[in-house]
Amino acid sequence: SGQSTKKMPTETKNVSIIGAGMAGTMLAILMARRGYEIDLFEQHPDPNSGERNIELASNLALGERARHALRITGLIEQVDRLATPMRGRMIHDRSGRITLQPYGYQDYETLFSVRRESLQQCLLYEAGNSDRIRVHFDHRLRTIDWDAKKATFSTDENGGGHAHDFEVLIGADGPASKVRRLMQDDTDLGADIQMLEAGYKFLTIPPDEHHEPLMDPNAVHVWPRGGYMLLAFAGPDGSFTATLFLPLKGDHKMIWGFEELDSWTRQGAFMDANFQDVTPLMPHLEEEFRDNPVGRMGTVRLNRWHLGGKALLIGDAAHAIVPFHGQGVNSALEDCTTLDSILDEGPESWEAAFQTLQERRKENTNAIADMALDAYHTMRESVRHRDFLLRKALERELELRHPKRFVARYSLVMFHRIPYTEAYQRGQVQGVIMDELLAGKDDLPDVDLELAARLVEERLEEVSVLL
Ligand code: FAD
Repeated sequence: SGQSTKKMPTETKNVSIIGAGMAGTMLAILMARRGYEIDLFEQHPDPNSGERNIELASNLALGERARHALRITGLIEQVDRLATPMRGRMIHDRSGRITLQPYGYQDYETLFSVRRESLQQCLLYEAGNSDRIRVHFDHRLRTIDWDAKKATFSTDENGGGHAHDFEVLIGADGPASKVRRLMQDDTDLGADIQMLEAGYKFLTIPPDEHHEPLMDPNAVHVWPRGGYMLLAFAGPDGSFTATLFLPLKGDHKMIWGFEELDSWTRQGAFMDANFQDVTPLMPHLEEEFRDNPVGRMGTVRLNRWHLGGKALLIGDAAHAIVPFHGQGVNSALEDCTTLDSILDEGPESWEAAFQTLQERRKENTNAIADMALDAYHTMRESVRHRDFLLRKALERELELRHPKRFVARYSLVMFHRIPYTEAYQRGQVQGVIMDELLAGKDDLPDVDLELAARLVEERLEEVSVLL
């Protein structure tokens, strides 16, 4: 829409993007609409070509930030048709008892589970509809000559290759970004990369013989167990992908790690002992333990996201986070919509556009990195504790009483688009208010709600943009 009327920041016509993942493909779509010619390079074959992998078959939770990007590219209806709404967390305790913790009391406080593959295909299909986007599958970035502005790719296992001259290059090649490493060879980006001492493995819960899901599909299922946990969400076919999060190495006593679970005997016994209500629903557990790799997770923080006006990093390449807040895709797509609005403002150069993006996003992506690490501890541990539940009950009460001022941090992150830093800061103020109200109290009726009203009025402005 309005392709030719949108401003171009410079005379550049061609933009080269590395990585046709979520961020790379979304950015290609947005930039093609502005009139740029896009070369999009992806190491993997076309996902429509039939090659499958478990990573692509897993489900993702989408919140408002991702949905906003899908809305402005006209893809939301299509994605919604493939999505399963999820209204809260279903906590499974050791005895198999389940409790629903709703995400909120408003209708919009709903997450949407989609198969990674479906979202990817939807974006690639849209990209394929543009005659300004050329997608080059089976192109793995190998080298970049920054002075000559030339990138080389390997195109097959037999040493085949391709060289490409670029004007502007955008690295959207994920957490282990090659573009980032090649940029670092040229300039110090101030990278801080912290890997988690835990890994994950995908497992599946197929539907029953009538293709019906075996658990409630409208919730995120969580089995919090202290040092580790299991998580599952539903796909559109009635199956669930479950993710087992476990330390890489245990202590050989109380805590098991992937390293100790080195035989089916131990794996099966561990699953039965810890997740007894769901293990019987996993008929392929043994093969999946054997065949699915242990994934690694980490946090990437950079001081600089760009090399002048030559190159920029976006998405996980610039700011990978641990997956426990379910915000990686949301945040990657928010980079794309933010860059799109910066280009609307008519920056005088690519360097100015990239610098503005870094200024608007860096603090925010650092804030979501911190909140994702917090969520790791909360989900493994506190969701099963009484204090946590009392706090949740108070939080909900304050939300109902003060809907414009008191909004749970989780909700600000997942269901709103206010900057992550603001969500973080409000969360801290709200946390202190709750600490003060709960000091010495064991039950919700003991809380002084008049004091609560005063503290909320005094310390919290109204939330500026709700949705
Ligand atoms: P990616 O999606 O990683 O895409 C990078 C692309 O670049 C890939 O297609 C890759 O093949 C390609 N590439 C890499 N190297 C090269 C190269 N050298 N040459 C050419 N191409 C290359 N986020 C959510 O919002 N909700 C969730 O529920 C959620 N759950 C998650 C669960 C797990 C277990 C994990 C690990 C992550 C989860 N995330 C979730 C995070 C999310 O997956 C990432 O944040 C998101 O995929 C980042 O998008 P991206 O486009 O930046 O990178």
